[in-house]
Amino acid sequence: MKNCVFFAPVSGEEAEPAVRARLDELIRRSGCNSVISSGDRVVLKLHFGEQGNKGFVRPSYVSAIAQAAARAGGEPVVSDTNTLYRGRRMNSTDHLKLAYEHGFTPDALKAQVVVPDDTRPENVRAIEANGEYVKTAKIAAIYAGADALIGITHFKGHLMTGFGGAVKNIGMGCATREGKLFQHSDLSPIVVIKKCTGCKACVSVCPAGAITMKNGMAAVDTARCIGCASCIPACKFRAIDLDWEGGGMSIQEKMAEYAMAVLGNKKGKAFFFNFLIKITKECDCLAKDDPRIVPDIGILASEDPVAVDQASLDLVIARAGEDILRKLHPHRDGTRQLAHAAKIGMGSREYLLETIN
Ligand code: SF4
Ligand code: SF4
Repeated sequence: MKNCVFFAPVSGEEAEPAVRARLDELIRRSGCNSVISSGDRVVLKLHFGEQGNKGFVRPSYVSAIAQAAARAGGEPVVSDTNTLYRGRRMNSTDHLKLAYEHGFTPDALKAQVVVPDDTRPENVRAIEANGEYVKTAKIAAIYAGADALIGITHFKGHLMTGFGGAVKNIGMGCATREGKLFQHSDLSPIVVIKKCTGCKACVSVCPAGAITMKNGMAAVDTARCIGCASCIPACKFRAIDLDWEGGGMSIQEKMAEYAMAVLGNKKGKAFFFNFLIKITKECDCLAKDDPRIVPDIGILASEDPVAVDQASLDLVIARAGEDILRKLHPHRDGTRQLAHAAKIGMGSREYLLETIN
């Protein structure tokens, strides 16, 4: 079945007010509010951007979507989860502070802004997934408990998944740190020997007794590791990390199954906006201003996260005149996530593009 993807084109590097006007029209014409009923708690999932990054979706655009949700009778909450890697977004306090510094304040958005602390059990929900890779998905409770979900995504390239779109924003972005680790590295973190001081802080926090000291340095027993990710923030010396390049060969399939788990109770209650503006080689986790790889294209909107990602990819390829994301990430075929998402019934890679002029 072909699902409709609405497309509001943007030419060149239009100023924010002009893009906002295009977005307002897209919100009106796409019927995004049909997924919201009066009294719904509506969670808007986005990425607040790492410190120094400038690719994230502008707060004024998020505000427009939040206000539309409120007009439909919903109670909007804007949210993101904490990261696996070290940075300003690794714990809820610093993450929220950075979100505010980037302009995502409750005043500006006219919505609550929440970064759930997934070290607290009440903020975590285990969802039975019964997928090929994911049997139980560990996601932040705020997404599981919401009545409706709106994915707001900056579409761009990605080191491990070729590109990051709606499927990634929901699958990886709604996962707890444990869920992210599972998707990234087939469970176990690694110890960077040259950074390890032998302080044993990781040994103390490991709930599985999977870390022992060998020759004065930490060693992870992958057979015992349960992938909880507690050791990563516990190490002050950044000696525990993931094999970002080599790890997680099935990351895209796992990510799709996580997204399916998040959306399982959101049938007819989810909508997705992809911003093809300031499209960069790497994701918004990069702590620097990554340059554009193609001119701005526009904003896409759909009820189908697979269709909106496929349409985004097709438009980027058409605008670049080549598969620029594959060229920049030659070892990562990003279409794997779409193929698996379609296979498990999340949506369709075939779509009807309705351009809003
Ligand atoms: S916490 Fe870090 S530095 Fe300390 S033993 Fe563990 S890996 Fe080594
Ligand atoms: S991820 Fe969790 S279980 Fe695995 S080594 Fe680290 S603390 Fe231990």
